[in-house]
Amino acid sequence: MSATRHTRVLIIGSGPAGYTAAVYASRAMLEPILVQGIQPGGQLTITTDVENWPGDASVMGPDLMVRMENHAREMGAEIISDHISDLDLSQRPFRASGDTGTTYTADAVILATGAQARWLGLPSEEHFKGFGVSACATCDGFFYRGQEVVVIGGGNTAVEEALFLTNFASKVTLIHRRDSLRAEKIMQDRLFKHPKIEVLWNHEVDEVIGTDAPRGVEAVKARHVETGAITEVPCKGFFVAIGHAPASELIKDQLKLHSGGYVWVEPMARPARRLVAFLRREV
Ligand SMILES: Cc1cc2nc3c(=O)[nH]c(=O)nc-3n(C[C@H](O)[C@H](O)[C@H](O)COP(=O)(O)OP(=O)(O)OC[C@H]3O[C@@H](n4cnc5c(N)ncnc54)[C@H](O)[C@@H]3O)c2cc1C
Repeated sequence: MSATRHTRVLIIGSGPAGYTAAVYASRAMLEPILVQGIQPGGQLTITTDVENWPGDASVMGPDLMVRMENHAREMGAEIISDHISDLDLSQRPFRASGDTGTTYTADAVILATGAQARWLGLPSEEHFKGFGVSACATCDGFFYRGQEVVVIGGGNTAVEEALFLTNFASKVTLIHRRDSLRAEKIMQDRLFKHPKIEVLWNHEVDEVIGTDAPRGVEAVKARHVETGAITEVPCKGFFVAIGHAPASELIKDQLKLHSGGYVWVEPMARPARRLVAFLRREV
């Protein structure tokens, strides 16, 4: 059944950013509506231990997100299970259309739609997605018990994925196109000290090699970025950990974006204060 709901603040997304916005907007008495999207709780619901949440030396990602949702509800946010398929910022109030048929009108919209994993874009990567190619070690690492796996990337995500995979795999090869990592130093230390991890520097992956019956990965073809020499690295699992693309589809033709697709924002302090004052009808 179609309906129209008006709110002063519409929050799109239910990851840590969305629930944080919901807590603050509720405490500012703005009675926000938060639309959860197809992944209630966001990316942390697909991980296990989170060790950098202040106040908890270790907490399970899904548990943390349930706590955040409860916190937002207790502060007074209305949390709705729906997915926004269209957002019109050309008129006020702004209009958002939900898959459930509900139209949301809002004086302000907070986009907290997060990001999705980036892929290399190789045809062979696409072919073996779900059959040995993954972007989530915590989701799929378990399938590679006692087997060799490859991780590609050089940032925190890649190092975390490689370390996590040592819980299952017999050997983890990290392939990076440069000769140093961007990951935090403490993560790099753990990586370099790990007896199961080997790093293949200055290489890019050109192809994922495997079988079709049954479909599965056997190796990746890595090319030295300077010499062009090819090394075939045997593996049953290939984990792509080269970062994330922001989910900015809803506003890509309406707002200024950075080249990576992230929304361009003004320095925050003053606009944020002005926005709250506007919503409270103080200006
Ligand atoms: C496997 C894994 C492990 C991680 N481990 C850690 C860790 O240990 N520590 C750490 O600090 N970080 C970790 N991260 C990163 C962390 O999860 C992200 O930084 C964080 O989730 C980003 O929060 P967010 O709220 O911006 O977006 P997300 O968590 O990406 O949430 C986006 C939300 O937007 C919603 N959404 C998207 N489009 C729409 C739409 N059109 N309509 C409605 N809703 C929409 C989705 O449903 C989702 O709820 C990990 C990430 C992954 C994938």
